[in-house]
Amino acid sequence: MTKVFEKSPAFFDTFTRKPSMQKTTHYCPGCGHGTLNKIIADQIAELGLQDQTIFVGPVGCGVFIYYYFESASVSAAHGRASAVATGVSRANPDSVTISYQGDGDLAAIGTSNAIHAANRGENMIVFFVNNNIYGMTGGQLAPTTLIDQTSTTSPTGRTVLNDGHPLKMAEMVAGLEAPVLSARVAVNTPRNVRQAVKVIKRGLEIQRDKKGYAFIEVLSQCPTNWKKESKEACDWIDEVVCKQYPIGVIKDVADQREAQIRLAERVEFEALADQLGLTTDDEDTSQKIEMLQDELRFKFAGFGGQGILSLGMMMAQMSMEQNMEVTWLPSYGPEMRGGVANCSVVVGKKAIGSPAIESPNVLVALNRPSLEKFGPLVPEEGLIIYNSSLIDQVPDNLKGQVYALPATDLASDAGTVKAANAVVLGFVARKTGMFQLSDLENFLRETFKKPAMLETNLKAVLAGWNAAEKD
Ligand code: SF4
Repeated sequence: MTKVFEKSPAFFDTFTRKPSMQKTTHYCPGCGHGTLNKIIADQIAELGLQDQTIFVGPVGCGVFIYYYFESASVSAAHGRASAVATGVSRANPDSVTISYQGDGDLAAIGTSNAIHAANRGENMIVFFVNNNIYGMTGGQLAPTTLIDQTSTTSPTGRTVLNDGHPLKMAEMVAGLEAPVLSARVAVNTPRNVRQAVKVIKRGLEIQRDKKGYAFIEVLSQCPTNWKKESKEACDWIDEVVCKQYPIGVIKDVADQREAQIRLAERVEFEALADQLGLTTDDEDTSQKIEMLQDELRFKFAGFGGQGILSLGMMMAQMSMEQNMEVTWLPSYGPEMRGGVANCSVVVGKKAIGSPAIESPNVLVALNRPSLEKFGPLVPEEGLIIYNSSLIDQVPDNLKGQVYALPATDLASDAGTVKAANAVVLGFVARKTGMFQLSDLENFLRETFKKPAMLETNLKAVLAGWNAAEKD
């Protein structure tokens, strides 16, 4: 039985972020995208392919394409639509997979993805919207920009010497062995639209029949970035653009090709896990650790060089080994050397929505700027652990339960001030009830291979653990 694909129920009925889309489209007046969308929709309906169709949307002016079709869809990162469509098509051999891409997306950042998908002859149809320019980002030069055409990044016009020749994608694709159809159409006049309808129908039939890769380049007007009136833009396609990019079918060998079915390879995860010596028993919660709350949001902060990121990493790693859900989000940048470094770690019993933390329920502040910055964000039931070796003044606007831990002094006693993060680890593990001392020891033995470092860190962790009992 043919599988049915449908639009995700996660879509909003009303897309309130773009009110204009309730009445018209997000495309500019006179844009060719709308005409193309309508042709594709009509032909999908005429061929009865709606329940089989999966769109892969691009980054660019076509980014909202999923709002115009009552079909399944996926959005790809910039330039990656053909690669994503490869995965979609192979995982869903029953589908009609459509990759919809503009010239910046397909012919610049995503050229390699597009060409290799074509060369493999994937079962997909690619609509390549060529309007000679980067549309959404404001009219920069694209690989398809015409010679002498001006753009925001070629204000005096494209030259061969500086920018190379306009890229003829449909001819490039036609030159490969695998593709069955490569054509160029335009949507600027009724006559060209009628021709486009035929070619697009042909491309969709090829997909319906699983005959391989079809590529349709669509010359489309962009009045906004061409700085032309709509009619003028349509005329310009006939008078100028078509001279560089002639319309017509360049290659069609579909009648000589058999249907090609690539069976989706289903990974048997249990067998794979067995081979790798792993367990797939997700229901086994016996390893799960006890915690103060179902989700702990840690903020570790201090000077760059105090081992803050490693501290967060150790906490994340240990939690992960206990089958907990974990995220670790470092803060890099100028803070890396001497300023305030911090990282966020979320540990939860259920899937974590976001790694970003607005209000930590455990703050570890190893220097004063960190305590002043993050301390007021901790709620009343939260823990604030600060390094009392370096912080002699506690802000008076803290709501959480405050613990003074002389982390640097205890680390120094253990052998090196660099082990202050290990002191904190021991303290936090005990205060939050997350780990046993034996868990910490095992972890350190796996982490530190040099005996001297292991010994120092074991001492430091123990010092933190004992300090937590006294508090
Ligand atoms: S910028 Fe150009 S391509 Fe993009 S929606 Fe507007 S007219 Fe169409």
